[in-house]
Amino acid sequence: MAGSTTAPVALEFETFLNVIDGKLSRTEVTRSSLNPSTLEENPQVPLSTPADVDKAVVAATNAWSSWAETPWAERQDAVRAYTDALETRVDDFARMLVKEQGKPLHFARFEILASLKFLRGFSEMTLPEEVIEETEEPYHKVSIRHPPLGIAVGIVPWNYPVFLSLGKIGPALLTGNVFILKPSPFTPYCCIKLVELAQGFFPPGVLQVLSGDDRLGPWLTSHPGVHKVTFTGSTATGKRVMESCSKTLKSVTLELGGNDAAIVCADADPEIVAPALANLALANSGQLCIAIKRIYVHESIYSAVLTRLVEHVKGMQVGDGFVEGVALGPIANQPQYDRIKALLHHIQASGLNIAIGDTTQLNPAGKGLFISPTIVDNPPDTSSIVVEEPFGPVFPVLKWSDEAEVIRRANDTHMGLGASVWTNDAAQANRITQKLRAGNVWTNTHGVLQFNAPFSGVKQSGIGVEYGTEGLKDYCALQTIHTTLKA
Ligand code: NAD
Repeated sequence: MAGSTTAPVALEFETFLNVIDGKLSRTEVTRSSLNPSTLEENPQVPLSTPADVDKAVVAATNAWSSWAETPWAERQDAVRAYTDALETRVDDFARMLVKEQGKPLHFARFEILASLKFLRGFSEMTLPEEVIEETEEPYHKVSIRHPPLGIAVGIVPWNYPVFLSLGKIGPALLTGNVFILKPSPFTPYCCIKLVELAQGFFPPGVLQVLSGDDRLGPWLTSHPGVHKVTFTGSTATGKRVMESCSKTLKSVTLELGGNDAAIVCADADPEIVAPALANLALANSGQLCIAIKRIYVHESIYSAVLTRLVEHVKGMQVGDGFVEGVALGPIANQPQYDRIKALLHHIQASGLNIAIGDTTQLNPAGKGLFISPTIVDNPPDTSSIVVEEPFGPVFPVLKWSDEAEVIRRANDTHMGLGASVWTNDAAQANRITQKLRAGNVWTNTHGVLQFNAPFSGVKQSGIGVEYGTEGLKDYCALQTIHTTLKA
């Protein structure tokens, strides 16, 4: 089954079908999504029914025990061979990603290459039995092993469909689970092809994909044959997922929304920090859970940082992701575009200061779901641009003077995904980071992830962990073995 390959793998990007039990599977009814830059229709994709869900769960159930018993090293080999095969098709996946999600081509390539780096990293990881006590005379040993949970379902959003899917698939399969992927209805295309390509490397039923509309997620989360749901998406949907999973007490991992603060201290150099802050706030046109969403700048350098932020943002070209030089693609879909438009109208109606961005001219690049990057200058802490996660190319810059007070303001949110401190003073950075209530904290950067570092949110940003050893354990049960027999 597993075997290394460096030759390009046969895979076309014209027909998109479900993958159930190792076979491509059609549905009677199909649907499609739009390219957010051109508003042209992308190809048809399946509209799965409850019968498709049942078929996939049966196939997963049949595949599970032998996959769980496959030695860890063989599962690692299969993941490595799959990663090699994906590597031969980076450009095709990147081009498809631009068409379905909108991001600029070089960022699409970056997303896929980063995913492959994570997959390779996961494939080197192990989860050995842990001995917590071992005594002789009389012999007694207590150890912990990590058996797989079983049938896992992965539900992913539309902002980073490739990275977020592979970030779940790798750890799930390595730990001996089987996996059914459910992409966002807005971005099903790369996800379908990721799973189609995988069929050459994993036995039938080990990795499957079902495409559908918003009815599909609840069918999967409520299915009694599913043991684990790993969900990435909004906090509102995460609560519905948890409620549905509670009926059969499924294990749940929730990676949800964020409202990340960046605290810029008095000693930071505006020339250095402002371009980095703008890039990290506007990455993927702001449609990133760990984008910087609130920038708190010390009053002594506030105007210098704001001026430099505006200069940098002015130079960022908005447009179709296939156009050379474009830094910011469109908003990825119509409902999100409408949400950002409403937020911008609200900002304008509230009379807030706009440092850059025209809240009335929402389509600078013509046809397509484009929005000019917008910076709001020192709005009140209670304004919606500060309180809510915009998930678009608009962010507030806020003034601070007292360290304890800015920490309180940064923590004054029901989200707790990421936060960062920007200073050269290690003592100040340490003081602030320790008080920030967020699952991930950075100094002088933001949003940087690695395969071996656990990623999780606190408060309403999530439950459970992805990546790192803790992320592998999230796909496992825990078995404690007490024995008096020496092996
Ligand atoms: P969303 O919650 O609307 O949808 C996410 C997925 O859930 C989609 O596949 C959707 O079809 C599915 N879904 C919808 N209703 C469902 C239900 N009742 N049961 C099961 N599944 C259902 O989120 P979105 O708009 O696609 O993504 C944006 C959100 O995702 C933002 O809030 C962002 O911060 C968050 N996000 C979080 C992370 C993270 O790692 N914490 C990463 C990326 C995005």
